Amino acid sequence: MNRVYNFSAGPSMLPLEVLESAKADLLAYGDTGMSVMEMSHRSAAFEPIIANAEASFRKLMNIPDNYKVLFLQGGASTQFAAVPLNLMKTGKADYILSGQFSTKAYKEAQKYGDVAAAASSKEENFSRVPSVTRDTFRADADYVHMCFNNTIYGTKFGYIPDTGDIPLVADMSSCIISEPVDVSKFGVIYAGAQKNMAPAGLTVVIVREDLLGNARPETPAMLDYKLMADNDSMYNTPPCWPIYVAGLVFDWILSIGGLEEMKRRNEKKAALLYDYLDSQDYYVAPVAKDSRSMMNVTFITGVEELDKKFPKEAEKAGLMNLKGHRSVGGMRASIYNAMPYEGVEALVTFMKDFAEKNPK
Ligand SMILES: *Cc1c(COP(=O)(O)O)cnc(C)c1O
Repeated sequence: MNRVYNFSAGPSMLPLEVLESAKADLLAYGDTGMSVMEMSHRSAAFEPIIANAEASFRKLMNIPDNYKVLFLQGGASTQFAAVPLNLMKTGKADYILSGQFSTKAYKEAQKYGDVAAAASSKEENFSRVPSVTRDTFRADADYVHMCFNNTIYGTKFGYIPDTGDIPLVADMSSCIISEPVDVSKFGVIYAGAQKNMAPAGLTVVIVREDLLGNARPETPAMLDYKLMADNDSMYNTPPCWPIYVAGLVFDWILSIGGLEEMKRRNEKKAALLYDYLDSQDYYVAPVAKDSRSMMNVTFITGVEELDKKFPKEAEKAGLMNLKGHRSVGGMRASIYNAMPYEGVEALVTFMKDFAEKNPK
């Protein structure tokens, strides 16, 4: 088997154990004689698949009972519209701009009301996350929106912003289930599944129940949280296969010890890479130390030619997709849950080798 180490920011690696389970079920799930891909979402066989996926997710993230879990489609980007449509009562919302996705969310929300950029780190090239306090936000804002981990820039909030009584909405696409998080501090958490949970096609939304039922009249049915919650995510055909794989991923994390153990492993991987970056001066890690992401590690050589050469040479060594986002350049190593420690070791070995062979 020729599996490479895939450092893609998304879609990204899935745990080998999960792929093997999915493979074993591929032609016939249990005694159904059919694949999960071929099943009716209303069948007796699929019902426990979605119910178990939700139960495992709740257990994993320790989600309080007064929160609904929705399995939706349209990617995290669809939530950029769904959030204002569902949560804007007075029409005011505050956004924290910490990178490209939060800026996209901010622009989308502007279609629906009085949307303010309450804080931004754009001036610093998004190399750190903004510092915010309770006073950063308008007291009458319907919600505050943030992106917890900034996939493109490789930054992460090291703290949960204090928004007082204002519901906090977080895009956690690239850090969900990478470590424990206190769900009760948030009004809504949403995430595209293709970074850390499942194949592309599934978006998970966690929403506090008291925030349901305020959707603006023009809200499309497919974006109405309450309608989706009332129908247990089965208002229409849900993304059955990604939900099934997400269930396997949740169970895999539970089997290794849950999010505490996941965090321990992720910290160990990230430390290996950052410690190396801090120990030398060939590569530069542009992100402020207190804003470093545990999932997406960005670095540059500072020489354009070498930044171009690095990902190409790395591919020859089986280290794939290390090119940084087109808007940032340089390199980015996405080391999500499924990236083994050995993959990061192989990367650091390659980095040392590359530095030696390509003097500046
Ligand atoms: C990938 C990503 C998105 C976009 O997700 P889609 O599912 O492609 O819409 C949004 N926010 C963050 C933080 C991401 O990492």
